[in-house]
Amino acid sequence: MSALRPSNLPKLAVCPCYESNPVAGPAAERGTLLDSAFRAELLGLEERFIISNKLSADENSAVSWSVSMVRAMAGRERVLAREDDCRVKMLGLSGTADAVVPTRLTHFDLKTGMRRNYREQMAAYALGFMESQFASEWTAHLLFCDQREIETHRFTYDEAREIVDQVIWEFNDPDKKPSPCEYCSWCAKAESCTARRAIVAETLPVADPGFDFDAVLGDPEMLGRFLACCAVVEDFRERAKQVATERIKTGGDVPGWKLVTRKGSEFVDCETVGHHIATMGFGPVLAAYGNLSVAKFRDLWSQRMPSEAPFPEESVKHAAPSTYLKQSKPKSTAKP
Ligand code: SF4
Repeated sequence: MSALRPSNLPKLAVCPCYESNPVAGPAAERGTLLDSAFRAELLGLEERFIISNKLSADENSAVSWSVSMVRAMAGRERVLAREDDCRVKMLGLSGTADAVVPTRLTHFDLKTGMRRNYREQMAAYALGFMESQFASEWTAHLLFCDQREIETHRFTYDEAREIVDQVIWEFNDPDKKPSPCEYCSWCAKAESCTARRAIVAETLPVADPGFDFDAVLGDPEMLGRFLACCAVVEDFRERAKQVATERIKTGGDVPGWKLVTRKGSEFVDCETVGHHIATMGFGPVLAAYGNLSVAKFRDLWSQRMPSEAPFPEESVKHAAPSTYLKQSKPKSTAKP
């Protein structure tokens, strides 16, 4: 399968040499399962009961939330969710959205796992739908079902075309270079990529007695480079740990390393706590459990409260913002 397809565009926008791994990891398999549950539920297919049995309570609730969002946003308009109805072609590529409401010039895409950038993929679908529906504008709604959050992208035809063209141009550039990024661990070339190997080769000499860490800390250029190197080494380290664990488990030896079994943590299940909660007092027990995420509370509210009871938005509290360090994308050349 060509690397150039809509679902790969966000990764190719960061590294034009990215190639998806043909072996789907557990996260991708979970995404596919939730996608089929979502489609089956929207279409009212019998198989939705079989799929639902394979999902956890929280996953079923994530799917229900996504379906209810589509229905609420579509209003009385018809929602198409059959794969044939959601298939789109654009600039020689093809892909399949999860649901489309042509009369609203809108499509929906369900996403599982952590929130990531999907703008280029949404631009490609929007372009395909604008062409098939003879529209000049299109709206894409991303349903991040694990977070119960919606992200909306609106495109004009020209905007969508420019976004997709740029990624295709970089992909087809004969002088393209690999650009280590957050997608490397998913890439089929993760272990053979020359750019990543070069980084590791550059980092390993840190053990050199001449390595001057104070100099690294004191120089912003060196500091940035050092952090970028550490991120790649960390990735290789995870893979090396998997291989070493497997080797020792199957009777092999890795000098200096052994497998250790840790005792499982002790806990009291929620049924037992529930059994004693009236005597112990609801307040102290709930305080010990801690805060509930807004998404879970919303779910419980919609399941347990009468449908006419409005959700108490004023009870939503915001934690203090947190700050973390994220590697930024190196500037790419613009398409001529
Ligand atoms: S492993 Fe190499 S080719 Fe793959 S995404 Fe990372 S830098 Fe790009």
